[in-house]
Amino acid sequence: SQVTTDMATLTREVEKFAENKKLEIETLKVREAYRKEFLGNVSHELKTPLFTVQGYILTLLDGAIKDKSVRKKYLNRASKGVERLIYIVRDLDMITKLETGDLHLHEEDFDIVELIQNSFELLEMKAAKKNITLTFDVQYEEPIWVKADMERIQQVITNLIVNSIKYGKKGGTTEISVENLIKNKVIVRVTDNGEGIEKENIPRLFERFYRVDKSGSRKEGGSGLGLSIVKHIIEAHGEKIYVESVFGVGSEFSFTLEKSQKPAEVNTKPEAAE
Ligand code: ADP
Repeated sequence: SQVTTDMATLTREVEKFAENKKLEIETLKVREAYRKEFLGNVSHELKTPLFTVQGYILTLLDGAIKDKSVRKKYLNRASKGVERLIYIVRDLDMITKLETGDLHLHEEDFDIVELIQNSFELLEMKAAKKNITLTFDVQYEEPIWVKADMERIQQVITNLIVNSIKYGKKGGTTEISVENLIKNKVIVRVTDNGEGIEKENIPRLFERFYRVDKSGSRKEGGSGLGLSIVKHIIEAHGEKIYVESVFGVGSEFSFTLEKSQKPAEVNTKPEAAE
């Protein structure tokens, strides 16, 4: 009859409503757990350098250290701790912007070859300290134009090279290459012959604060946010990031970018007088 049909419809509606509410609550619970974990991680990350800095300052305030060079050494260490805090806060700021969609990309056409060369120059000293050679395949005498946010891509490349140095072997090599990929894409690879990553850790690498070797990585500094920032930036461009690694042999991080045309201004540059 009509009444039973209506009852059945009503029951279905109520069940659907209850099911939706349950899902909503589950989502909120997951988000809340995520938020708590994030805050927990942040305070944990901040604690170590803060205690370090406080320790050196208290020792200096105590006045018991008379040796000027020791005092200077302690001040230097305190300063290193503050520097670390600045990096962590900067990375946190970046990741928050990326996750809330507040970081707007400024896409432009630029030469990726030049950008890599600039990054090399910036990191040469850091690499040299570990006797690591940075190589960039010399076949690239021609510019390779891409369309992306240059500053953000520079950050991606820098983060990947810095990691290859941090987790690289003394006397090792980091190699960068750019290759044409299908259609209108290029792929940038950063390859090292460093410590490599065990298979079971690879899926978690891009998580915020995730570190394979807690103690080892901490000694190397960094916020544990580098790779998650890298992934966010690449995905914000609608591109992909890949990692391949063999434990004890080395790692390769690569990402794609959209190719573009040489910008018009470059063509219309006034001819240099001969
Ligand atoms: P971190 O500040 O710890 O370097 P990242 O997010 O940049 O944070 O990297 C996360 C972890 O991934 C590192 O702690 C390290 O264990 C591992 N990792 C990243 N890059 C490499 C690499 N090139 N070789 C080996 N391990 C790496």
